Amino acid sequence: MRYFKSLYTVAVSFYGRFFYCAASHFILDSRDQVEAVKNSFLIRVYDLLYREYGAQGWWPIKSLSGRNGFDERGYHRGDYSYPRTPEQRFEISLGAVLTQNTSWRNVEQVIEKLLEAGLCSPEEVLKYPLTELSELIRSSGYFNQKAKKLKALSALLQRYTDQRNNPSRRELLSVWGVGPETADSILLYAYHDLYFVVDAYTRRLLIRLNKIKGSEDYEAIRTLFSTCLPDDLSLYSEYHALIVRHAKIRCRKAPMCETCPLLKEPLSGKNLCAHGNK
Ligand code: SF4
Repeated sequence: MRYFKSLYTVAVSFYGRFFYCAASHFILDSRDQVEAVKNSFLIRVYDLLYREYGAQGWWPIKSLSGRNGFDERGYHRGDYSYPRTPEQRFEISLGAVLTQNTSWRNVEQVIEKLLEAGLCSPEEVLKYPLTELSELIRSSGYFNQKAKKLKALSALLQRYTDQRNNPSRRELLSVWGVGPETADSILLYAYHDLYFVVDAYTRRLLIRLNKIKGSEDYEAIRTLFSTCLPDDLSLYSEYHALIVRHAKIRCRKAPMCETCPLLKEPLSGKNLCAHGNK
């Protein structure tokens, strides 16, 4: 009986996902339906991006840079077992706030300064004077606001230094200065919770791939990914990082489509991006 129940659950989940993907733009037409379920459009896009750019090694952990398996900037390509300690998780969480509206290059310098100042735990950040914290993170931009955000986030995270407990998405979203993109970055990369991170690059790519109109809200886009992708940490971690890489190298504001890996699928010869032919 239990076997049939679980079979029923799997079937409902499978067909639920199928019809959800079919209802959105994700099933191309009826001929492709079976193929699309087996090998969804989003997986094909991922596959091509991964073949082109390889593992991205997100989220970089500056405190481990240069160690075995880490490059000088803290990227750890192909190893999804990090972070492993509360300090590493905290460093990633701070980075997720600091990178709001600024480049990662700026954030790297700031994280180095935070590490040098010994701000490796929520308790240390909470003890540190606000004005000095602002000064320390100046080069990340909006430093007065961000210093307050780091304190607010630390107040929550000090309750979650135990390996077995994670903050919930609802709790993170209740922190001042933490929106969905920041919350999901923390959940995915610091706590290995499967929340797909949606950013402006993701939206731009999906619009160009003709899969969304652009007016959809964050949750709608996140749900599309989580519904159509298998639950897999490496896939979630790499996919967001690959979209960012692709957006910086080719799918820019003014896209460089000539050499885009999505222009033609090697096996089918299909063009995945309508925009690229314009
Ligand atoms: S073909 Fe051009 S617009 Fe389409 S995904 Fe590639 S770079 Fe972006």
